[in-house]
Amino acid sequence: AALLVSRSKTADEGAIIRMSQRARELRAKGADVVSMTLGEPDFDTPDNIQAAASEAMKKGFTHYSPVMGIPELRAALAHKLKHENGLDYAAGEIVLANGAKQAIANAMLSIIEAGDEVIMLAPFWVSYEITVRFCGGTPVVLHAGVEEGYKVPAHRIAAAITPRTKLIVLNSPSNPSGAVWSKAELEELAAVVRRHPQLMVMSDEIYEYIIFDGEMHSFGALPGMRERTITVNGFSKGFAMTGWRLGYAAAPEPIARAMARMQSAISAGANQFVQRAAIAALEGPRDSVQRMRQEYQLRRDMVQGGLNAIPGVRMGNIPATFYAFPDVSALLGKKAGNHVLDTTDALCDWLLDQHHVATVPGSAFGAPGSIRLSFACSEAEIGKAMARMQTGLGSLV
Ligand code: PLP
Repeated sequence: AALLVSRSKTADEGAIIRMSQRARELRAKGADVVSMTLGEPDFDTPDNIQAAASEAMKKGFTHYSPVMGIPELRAALAHKLKHENGLDYAAGEIVLANGAKQAIANAMLSIIEAGDEVIMLAPFWVSYEITVRFCGGTPVVLHAGVEEGYKVPAHRIAAAITPRTKLIVLNSPSNPSGAVWSKAELEELAAVVRRHPQLMVMSDEIYEYIIFDGEMHSFGALPGMRERTITVNGFSKGFAMTGWRLGYAAAPEPIARAMARMQSAISAGANQFVQRAAIAALEGPRDSVQRMRQEYQLRRDMVQGGLNAIPGVRMGNIPATFYAFPDVSALLGKKAGNHVLDTTDALCDWLLDQHHVATVPGSAFGAPGSIRLSFACSEAEIGKAMARMQTGLGSLV
C-alpha cells in the first residue's frame, strides 16, 4: 500500500459497486433480492447488431483499428449527428473509444490539468468527478434538487464561473435524475458560455434514445456552440450494448486530435468488429430501440406510481432514462426498531438487509438526500420492489 500514489485513491466508484456486491452476496446466501443498482439495460443486444458483429469477425475485421476509429463508422456518425442532432462534426472530428466512459476520459485528459475548475451539476454520474480528479482538476459542484427538476439554472452556473473554470459537464437526459434539459434551458446556458471564451461544455447524450416526455436537444447544435462543445455519446444504453464497449466523442479538430493521442497512448483504437456492428446499429432498423424505450416507459410508470404512494418520498415526473432518484430526506433520522437511519447510506443498507431491495445512496451522485433505483429490470421485480419499499419505508417511525 505504501507504493500507491494519491491518484490511485481518486478512482473509487464506491457506493454503486458496494451495493451491487452486497446484493449478490445476499442472493448467494439464498435471499430473494431485487437489485436496482446497476445502470445497465436488461435486454440483450438486438439480433441485427449481433449478426453484423459475427459477420465482420468472419470477414477478418479482427485486427487493430485506426486510433480514431474506422472511417466508415466515423462517416456514419457524422451523418447521424447531423441528421438526428443538428450537430456539424466532420468525420475527422469524431473519435471512437472503448465506451463513452473512455471518451470522457480522453476529453478530460486532453483539456483538464491541475488548477482547472470543472463545474459539475449535481446530481451527476459519479465517473465525471472521478475523472476530473484523476486529471488533477477541481470539481466545483452545484446542486439542484427535486424542486428545480434536478436542473441547475444558468444564472447559478454563471455565478460559479471563475477565470480558472475550464469545463461545464452537462448530461441530458441525466443519470441519475432522468432530467431532460429543454431547448430554452440550454439556450440560457449557451448565453452564459458565450460570455466566457475560455470555457468548454461537455455534453453527454448517451441516454438520448430513452426519452418518454419532452425531446432531445443537443447543446452543440445551438448557435456558436459547436466550437465550445465536446459531445459524448455511445452505444451502451440505447442499443443495449454495454459489454461491447463502444462510445465516442466529437469535438473541434484540435481537441479531437488530442483525444486520439490519449486513446492511442492508453488503449489504441476501439474493437474493429464492434465498430462494424455499430454501423448496423446506426443504419439498420430501429424497432428494437423503440421497443426497449416503450418497455422502460411502462416500468417508469410503475416506479413513479409506486414511489409516489410512499409518505416522505418526494418525486417529480421522470421524463427519461431508466433511473428514479426520489428525495427521501424527510425519512432520514427515523427509526427502524431502535436503529436510526440518519443517512441515505444507512437507509439503503437497511432496505437491502431487511427488505431485500438493493438501491444506491445519493451520496454516490453528489446528492446525499436521495437514492437511485435503476428500473432496467423486469416488471415482476419492480412490482416486488415497490411493495417491499412501501411496507419497509412505511414502517419507519
Ligand atoms: N455517461 C453516462 C451518463 C452513463 O450513465 C454511463 C454509464 O453508466 C456512461 C456515460 C458510460 O457508458 P459506456 O458504457 O459507453 O462507457
